[in-house]
Amino acid sequence: MKCPCGSDKNYSVCCGVYHSGEALAPTAEALMRSRYAAFAKNQMQYLRDTTDPQTLDLIDDEANKEWAERAKFLKLEILNAEEKGTKGLVEFKAFYSIDDEDYVHHEVSTFRKQAGEWFFKSGKIKGEKTK
Ligand SMILES: [Zn+2]
Repeated sequence: MKCPCGSDKNYSVCCGVYHSGEALAPTAEALMRSRYAAFAKNQMQYLRDTTDPQTLDLIDDEANKEWAERAKFLKLEILNAEEKGTKGLVEFKAFYSIDDEDYVHHEVSTFRKQAGEWFFKSGKIKGEKTK
């Protein structure tokens, strides 16, 4: 089956290798894609594991899980991806639907690289979760 991140590759050779721990996402963008795919595949542990420990307290697992179970993940669009040393920034639009209503989540996420591993640090929502 195709990977939910929109790469056109099979899940097992795309974000699946990051979710299983076989490999580390090599770039901030790859991590972002794999986190979107993790929502689509309900891989909550992966989302925790790839969140900056300093941010982890702010994550609401239950809310994320409930949202991931209700939402249908339609498409991910990467608008911009930048990396500078150990800092990364990815702007994206995540398209999903809940109860047949379509939504777009537009966010600018920042990432941090630590000991060769990328972590999601924080996200800033650009506009509301509306159609
Ligand atoms: Zn993927």
